[in-house]
Amino acid sequence: MSVSPEEMNKSKSRSFRRYKDGQSEYRSWQDKIFDAGWSHKCPEYVLSTPPCQGSCPSGHDVRGWLNIVRGIEKAPLGADGKPSMSWQEYAWRRMTEANPFPAIMGRVCPAPCQGGCNRSEVDEFVGINSIEHFVGNWAIEHGLGFAKPTHKTGKRVAIIGGGVGGLSCAYHLMRKGHDCVVFESSDKLGGMISFGLPAYRTPRDIVDAEVQRILDMGVEVRLNTRVGKDVSFADLRRKFDAVFIGIGAQTGNVLDIPGSDAPNCTDGISFLREFNEGKLDHAGKRIVVIGGGDTAMDVAAVARRLGSYNVDAETLGHAKVVVATRESDSRRGLAQCLRSSSEVVIAYRRHVQEMPASKHELDAVIQEGVEIQSCVAPVSVVKDANGNAVALRVIPVDWVNKKMIPKEGSEYNIPCDLIVSAVGQSVNWSGMDEFKNDRGLAKVDKNLQAVGHPGVFVGGDAITPFLLTTAIGHGRIASEGIDHYLKGEDLGKRPKVDVHYWDLLQKQNEFGKTPETYRSRTKEDVIKEEGSAKEIDLGLRGSDTAQFALHNFENRADKYVMPSKDLFLGHFPFTPRNEREMRVIDTANVLGNEEERVVALAEAQAQAEAKRCMSCGLCFECDNCVIYCPQGAVKKTPKAQATTGRYVYTDYAKCIGCHICADVCPTGYIKMGMGD
Ligand SMILES: Cc1cc2nc3c(=O)[nH]c(=O)nc-3n(C[C@H](O)[C@H](O)[C@H](O)COP(=O)(O)OP(=O)(O)OC[C@H]3O[C@@H](n4cnc5c(N)ncnc54)[C@H](O)[C@@H]3O)c2cc1C
Ligand code: SF4
Ligand code: SF4
Repeated sequence: MSVSPEEMNKSKSRSFRRYKDGQSEYRSWQDKIFDAGWSHKCPEYVLSTPPCQGSCPSGHDVRGWLNIVRGIEKAPLGADGKPSMSWQEYAWRRMTEANPFPAIMGRVCPAPCQGGCNRSEVDEFVGINSIEHFVGNWAIEHGLGFAKPTHKTGKRVAIIGGGVGGLSCAYHLMRKGHDCVVFESSDKLGGMISFGLPAYRTPRDIVDAEVQRILDMGVEVRLNTRVGKDVSFADLRRKFDAVFIGIGAQTGNVLDIPGSDAPNCTDGISFLREFNEGKLDHAGKRIVVIGGGDTAMDVAAVARRLGSYNVDAETLGHAKVVVATRESDSRRGLAQCLRSSSEVVIAYRRHVQEMPASKHELDAVIQEGVEIQSCVAPVSVVKDANGNAVALRVIPVDWVNKKMIPKEGSEYNIPCDLIVSAVGQSVNWSGMDEFKNDRGLAKVDKNLQAVGHPGVFVGGDAITPFLLTTAIGHGRIASEGIDHYLKGEDLGKRPKVDVHYWDLLQKQNEFGKTPETYRSRTKEDVIKEEGSAKEIDLGLRGSDTAQFALHNFENRADKYVMPSKDLFLGHFPFTPRNEREMRVIDTANVLGNEEERVVALAEAQAQAEAKRCMSCGLCFECDNCVIYCPQGAVKKTPKAQATTGRYVYTDYAKCIGCHICADVCPTGYIKMGMGD
């Protein structure tokens, strides 16, 4: 099963190897079996959280939906004895238990889950978000929606801000039976996925579909309503049982250098908002973008797509009328006849490899013709006689012990007719200043309740400007806090591993194998079981066969993330990743281009990629333990009782505690815990 040296050399890729070249020491299995036999420990089945899930801020049950896509975990059976839904739908339903935006996430999440994936110790991480992309698209194409809440608590929650954080919170609260009203200052929902990220990254039909599903659950929306201006916060707090604030960090930071007040100096958030609202149809001949994050990349890429007009104003006015009357009007159409490319330079203070932007976004803008000037710090804006910026003056810098050392005397100008600073964002707290701390963010406790404001919860960029998946995770966590608050319960502590868990009990329920309800023995039970009731002991008897418990199973998912060292990696042969195709957008075709860069996997590719998952921390039915147990003590659970996670059981009368099943378990699900 392991990889031969020839294969490894052929693939030129890493693969797991237990022994190094030339290593000749080996462990005798016989010794190991007899030594281990003295441990008096037998296997038990321990559920842990896989690192992909532990690294996903929205807490996706990644392993769960990968197991569904690859065909291991099956949908519950319907009345006709057939699966009640397709695997695609079942995978989507599992995804959306944690995160209601899989089609968006699959496209633009930088996928910290993949950074944590144990498969990297064998060859390369599992392409998790490409599978999320496929399933998210499938759900939209097949019109899947969320069930309307079946019970109502009568409680109402105000959600301030209709970005992904606010919408995620509304979604999770609706599932818990609480009514929600979203107050949104713009005329559209979505926050940054509608006004920040360009449509070639988050196509608006995809955004609309994933947002509309949440509204279809019965969420009320008040657009064009800024809390703190159109309606006061105090008023909302009075009228609603609880409040969630998800107002994002919508104000682009202004560049603080002399001359930055020039009219042709702007910030990245304003630039992108104007573009996304259709108010910007050209960028200028030469644009300098300052910064190295996602916003800087988006500004640069949008500027390359927009270009600059190469005709006079009169010709342009006439041409616009002509183009607008054509049915196929598009920026591209206009671009092809009237525009030429803009030169776009990104100026960044640190080294390119330290840019916080996603690597693929950086690679994409370079391919699209953006020039990167790294290790340069902005000094001033050079203006012409009319006060317009004509250049950005920069100074090259060195970095010594993380300190920036400007190279005095080496300043130079980068000529331009537009400067866009993408140097961070701030939260606009006007009308809600009581929540702002000295860093301009809200101070919250572990349950995301605003400190000193019971019943008010905050999430997303308003507490930590980071990622979409982070804001979505905050929405889920806050919804749980709000639920406790509305029920008058203690909010409690958050678990160490704070994710949405795979649930064995739910699995048992889905397949009609719900454990029996526990009841203590009655006098009649004792007489029946023991023949007499001379000494009546009503305590537990024969609990190893009782049907009210999940035997020899321990759930450590809220405490333990499965590390690669606990897996049997030798089980997994080298298997190349099924990568998504990237459309080639380069200097030749970038002008006016509105196409998505990334192409979704085909169904067979998505399934093949899911098969690369090693199911860290949960049985994936490989049969190794059954095959290798020298005692024949590990057996397959009879089909009628088996579910995912209950595929095998151990006959403890036969087990000698040799550890072999645990050693050959690829997933770390078997631990020698019985007898501890
Ligand atoms: C240009 C850019 C590119 C990015 N690219 C990525 C990426 O590729 N991947 C990724 O994961 N993350 C990316 N991010 C980060 C991501 O967009 C944010 O982390 C995320 O949008 C935060 O969600 P949120 O719900 O907290 O806030 P937002 O999305 O900002 O939504 C806040 C909402 O609140 C509304 N609002 C604000 N104030 C009020 C008020 N007083 N009353 C009523 N409504 C109000 C706003 O209009 C907005 O709709 C990017 C960010 C930017 C700016
Ligand atoms: S939301 Fe992001 S981090 Fe979470 S599973 Fe999807 S791609 Fe990975
Ligand atoms: S191998 Fe699968 S379960 Fe393990 S970390 Fe990677 S995606 Fe998650």
